[in-house]
Amino acid sequence: MSEQTSTDRVLVLGGGIAGLAAAWRLQQAGVEIELLEARDRVGGRLWTSFEYGPFPVELGAEFIHGDRVITWQFLERYGLRALDDPSQDRRYVGINGRVMPSVDLSRPVGEGIFAPLGQAAEAWYATGRPDTNLAAALRWWADQVGMSLTPELWELWQTLAAIGWSADLEEIGVYGEVEATYEGDGLRNWRIADGQQTLAERIAAELGAAVRLNCVVERVEWNRSGVRVIASDGEHHGRWAVVALPLGVLRGGMVKFVPALPEHLREALDGLNPGVSIKVVVELSNDPWGSRIGCLFVTEPHGIWERPGLALGRQEPVFSLLIGGSEARRLAALPRDLAIREVTRSLGNVLGIDVSGWVRRGVVVDWINDPWCRGGYSLVPPGGAGLRARFGSVVDGCLVFAGEYTSVIRPSTVHGAIESGLRAAEAILSLQAKAAVSP
Ligand SMILES: Cc1cc2nc3c(=O)[nH]c(=O)nc-3n(C[C@H](O)[C@H](O)[C@H](O)COP(=O)(O)OP(=O)(O)OC[C@H]3O[C@@H](n4cnc5c(N)ncnc54)[C@H](O)[C@@H]3O)c2cc1C
Repeated sequence: MSEQTSTDRVLVLGGGIAGLAAAWRLQQAGVEIELLEARDRVGGRLWTSFEYGPFPVELGAEFIHGDRVITWQFLERYGLRALDDPSQDRRYVGINGRVMPSVDLSRPVGEGIFAPLGQAAEAWYATGRPDTNLAAALRWWADQVGMSLTPELWELWQTLAAIGWSADLEEIGVYGEVEATYEGDGLRNWRIADGQQTLAERIAAELGAAVRLNCVVERVEWNRSGVRVIASDGEHHGRWAVVALPLGVLRGGMVKFVPALPEHLREALDGLNPGVSIKVVVELSNDPWGSRIGCLFVTEPHGIWERPGLALGRQEPVFSLLIGGSEARRLAALPRDLAIREVTRSLGNVLGIDVSGWVRRGVVVDWINDPWCRGGYSLVPPGGAGLRARFGSVVDGCLVFAGEYTSVIRPSTVHGAIESGLRAAEAILSLQAKAAVSP
């Protein structure tokens, strides 16, 4: 490496999809990069298991949300196949010991099951009233449109909040919800046939030896002339750094910045909420839900059951449950076998089948207490609109932030994280271009 190249090196902190996308774009532009990742694998919240059968079980991100999002460009590059997810056409709700098609509960308020949450937020915002939480906006909106707010409907909305925002309705800010438009993404959900983690691995394979695994970033010393990172394997030097660490990790102060980050960023880190999510995967000895159900929204606990093999036509009785909000926090605190038993019993209850003794094996994937995540996916609490955008500019000509929580219009998604990484890379490339022309 020439002297010129090594002094222009970019350190990328975090090997989730945002960090990988940033590193990839920089490397494509001929920039020397070094990517530092704490785990023994890349992908972060893209994590796939093949232990349950000849189909991927997603332990983190499950779907590509939309057929026009940037993820598709990477799938095409690597020849990866995506499958239209059949479960979205057979959505059921399990509530109070019975199962019904989701349209039966959502019909009074129009198309999609999530529609009321967006409509209530938009309607509140349009009045010009101060920001509030989604629970208050929904109550107000139901009153405005003359809807009777049954306990069942309320529980369903809490479930949607838990899945869509990894939070309770009371924690979600209306103005922040309006900011995230997901403009033009498309409505259908897709699965990556080889699993989400494969996408991360394909990008990492292109990056080659520049990826350092088992490398925990502990301290970031930065100034206008460069960055020194103290990590578990020693020191790393670069001219610039892309900070692609999760919001939960940055908020928790697990990585020390010297000097401290500017006040406006510390305020934004504290003001956003990393969310809370867990997943439970169970392999049963029998099939309790047959071929009628695609996926099942449940209110005990607030979550959604999926059958991971379905898109590949597999019928093995392997099921996964995504849980968010306070129920996720409660279940994460239980001993693992108790949590697995509780959620399986609840599944049996709504299906009207005694499934006790059916669990062959199960796992709780606890993103909340995962030291390299500390959350679920980010949300904006009341009063927090505008905070995501603060991560869009370069800090002192030296640090650039990337990650799902920095995306204003597509937060909390894989494609939003990819876009944030590409944005961070472009910011560095223009800094580099400026540095090349200044004396
Ligand atoms: C349960 C669950 C389900 C989801 N479902 C979907 C879905 O269906 N569709 C969708 O689009 N999105 C989904 N998401 C959200 C999606 O996974 C995230 O938005 C996206 O993966 C975030 O990418 P990221 O690169 O910003 O962060 P991460 O993937 O968290 O990457 C950050 C990286 O930094 C590393 N790191 C942390 N600390 C350190 C340190 N000190 N030193 C070095 N490295 C460190 C981490 O190990 C990690 O690899 C889901 C998320 C969860 C948790």
